[in-house]
Amino acid sequence: MMTYKNYLSERRFLVEEWLNTDVLKVEKDMVTYRGYQADKIIFCAGVEVSDFWKSPPFRPVRGEIIDIECDLESPYIINQGIFMIPKNSYFTVGSTYDHAVLTHKPQEEGVKSLIEKIRTLFDGDFQIVAKRTGVRPATHDRKPFIGFHKDFRTLGIFNGFGTKGVSLSPYFAMHFVDVMIQGVRIEEEVDVQRAF
Ligand SMILES: Cc1cc2nc3c(=O)[nH]c(=O)nc-3n(C[C@H](O)[C@H](O)[C@H](O)COP(=O)(O)OP(=O)(O)OC[C@H]3O[C@@H](n4cnc5c(N)ncnc54)[C@H](O)[C@@H]3O)c2cc1C
Repeated sequence: MMTYKNYLSERRFLVEEWLNTDVLKVEKDMVTYRGYQADKIIFCAGVEVSDFWKSPPFRPVRGEIIDIECDLESPYIINQGIFMIPKNSYFTVGSTYDHAVLTHKPQEEGVKSLIEKIRTLFDGDFQIVAKRTGVRPATHDRKPFIGFHKDFRTLGIFNGFGTKGVSLSPYFAMHFVDVMIQGVRIEEEVDVQRAF
């Protein structure tokens, strides 16, 4: 990932900054943003949907993840109610699901439920060394939103991966490239048109 990021940066294909949609100009055949001009812009903004994409019915889910240090050793990812991913000297453990409190601040009730689940898997001592929270951009029908805006074919979206971003994004990224470059028809089940 870092190697590819460096490759893009060196060729000045990558700009790391917050996109200000107030100065984004979307037209029927091109988009302009500050000094840039492009055929299309694809929004991959997670739950931070912009004014352009207010209509897709997202159903965000907050989740806690913790890092724990313990004596347990495993060359494998443990997956039983929760996942425990072995890192160099600790495990990353997750995760919880909550639709009500959509904050990026770790919630104690989420951490507590992870601790209870760890206790069902092993009874040794452990220390929590980090707590994190994320809000997953889930959707009303649990399928991603991919495709183009009904009014602007220059405005694309690649979002709504909910709990399956890691596993589904590579497949659908390739599919979306085929849609844009080869003119392949977008898979109906994930087409954002279903949301308009
Ligand atoms: C607790 C938790 C557990 C998870 N477990 C799993 C799992 O078991 N399996 C799995 O496959 N996936 C898992 N995921 C990953 C999850 O599925 C994906 O993170 C999710 O689908 C969102 O991915 P995304 O890249 O679409 O959005 P995000 O990860 O939300 O990324 C969007 C990015 O866009 C940035 N952004 C938004 N607006 C702007 C702007 N105007 N300018 C610049 N940047 C902007 C945001 O800051 C953010 O960094 C988990 C996620 C969480 C939080």
